Amino acid sequence: MVKCPRCGTEVSKSRKEWDYSVFHVKRFDCEKCGKAFMAYYREDKLSHTIPKRK
Ligand SMILES: [Zn+2]
Repeated sequence: MVKCPRCGTEVSKSRKEWDYSVFHVKRFDCEKCGKAFMAYYREDKLSHTIPKRK
């Protein structure tokens, strides 16, 4: 469960995931604002999102 960096809605379903360098990346699609964002995990902890939270 990750909060959308744009509107703060919690999104639970990741559409796609992959490994990028030391990170595990998940792509989420926010149903509220209709835009995608990425969540970067490092050692199973959320590191940051792209775009970053305001
Ligand atoms: Zn959103």
